[in-house]
Amino acid sequence: MNEYLREAKREALPYLDGRTLTKYGYERDSQRERVYDAEDVLVDRGKLFLTVGEIEDYLANVIDSTWFKNRFPWIVYADVRDGRGRSSACGYRTDVGIAVLKFPRWSRWELFILHELSHAITKIRPHSGHGRWFCSVYLALIRRFMGHVVYADLRQAFQRQGVHWHRHRARQVPHKEMTE
Ligand SMILES: [Zn+2]
Repeated sequence: MNEYLREAKREALPYLDGRTLTKYGYERDSQRERVYDAEDVLVDRGKLFLTVGEIEDYLANVIDSTWFKNRFPWIVYADVRDGRGRSSACGYRTDVGIAVLKFPRWSRWELFILHELSHAITKIRPHSGHGRWFCSVYLALIRRFMGHVVYADLRQAFQRQGVHWHRHRARQVPHKEMTE
């Protein structure tokens, strides 16, 4: 068993004790608005992509990197769709490790692309949309792929908004029983 998997099993325990679950089986997504508010002021710091193909190329580089594979090996490929008819972007993961990400035209900013990829990565636990694990994964992706300055500013914006995240490195691999 690799070190990531061992660590994940340890860290997953608090999520299984029932305290953070609602009657629907998920933690309420209590940080969502605060995450949106924090990232809104930073969005134009990254690239704006015009086409689905450009986003797919960008994400192929991210997902094929050794850095990514060492941390999130359960994502193998990104299937990007144009989000036609949707008012917002979304991201989830299929059983075979495909990140399905949809981006309406207005949402094709680098920051939002890494945001939705973070959803695909963290959608394996019975765990809230914008909870601590999501935020720590998101910050790790921003740091790696948008650089330390944007990372530091997003971190600061999270702090100002009272958004919480795990302070250690975001490198968990989930326990098998916890996959949806
Ligand atoms: Zn989100």
